[in-house]
Amino acid sequence: MPLSAPLSTLEPARSALLLDMDGTLLDIAPTPDLVWVAPGLTDALCRLRDAMGGALAVVTGRPIEQVDGLLAGIPYAVAGEHGGAIRHAPGAEVVRVSLPTPPVEWVLEAARIADAHPGVLLEQKQRGFVLHYRAVPELGPALREAALALIAPQADRFQLMEALMAWEVRPRGADKGSAVNTLMTEAPFAGRQPIFIGDDVTDEDGMRAARALGGAGLRVDEWFGGPADVRAWLAQAAVTSAADPGAWPPTPVQPTAAATVLPPK
Ligand SMILES: [Mg+2]
Repeated sequence: MPLSAPLSTLEPARSALLLDMDGTLLDIAPTPDLVWVAPGLTDALCRLRDAMGGALAVVTGRPIEQVDGLLAGIPYAVAGEHGGAIRHAPGAEVVRVSLPTPPVEWVLEAARIADAHPGVLLEQKQRGFVLHYRAVPELGPALREAALALIAPQADRFQLMEALMAWEVRPRGADKGSAVNTLMTEAPFAGRQPIFIGDDVTDEDGMRAARALGGAGLRVDEWFGGPADVRAWLAQAAVTSAADPGAWPPTPVQPTAAATVLPPK
């Protein structure tokens, strides 16, 4: 199957772009607050959003306020906190999925662990927390065990998710797949074919949901290479959508490593 096959039937007027942020649009930074927005990204996203009738969303683990801070006014819709919070349109109210909040003792214990291990960073979220270990990769397995032990008494309500050099404790009941399905029920997304692009384990739910809706789920490392390649593709897609909708979307440049072709869906 040619690399472009999942994209070959798509066109701007019938597609929606659902994009993860960190590791997809933005380069991964040593800590989440150190990311930067590459020049040209906002322009490409704005042009694509307009070409697609607004059907462009960011689907991320970050809170919606952080997306607003980094990409102010750009995505038409935003799903934050792994689908736990969704804003369907600019200026619309944020709809929160009813999810449990982790006990405060868990967060205190996570803070104690981070304090005791220089290089480990605790990131608190609305309904969960993340232990980052990018600076001390050798601590990854031990942090996983500690986090699993913490949530074990409530494993039916909370889960441990693997992120890039981080472990995230978050409630069950929402993920990027449910976010895609929810976003795709409302205008301007409804009836379009979603193209979901993401880079890590938590994005696979979004990719599956997009494929199940007749669209495409593309993993950054398999289809593009890295975030800079995604940005280059978006910039090209923005130009192509205006000049020649029939040639849209462009074929991603295949990464040098052998790509695994995703199963057709
Ligand atoms: Mg990501």
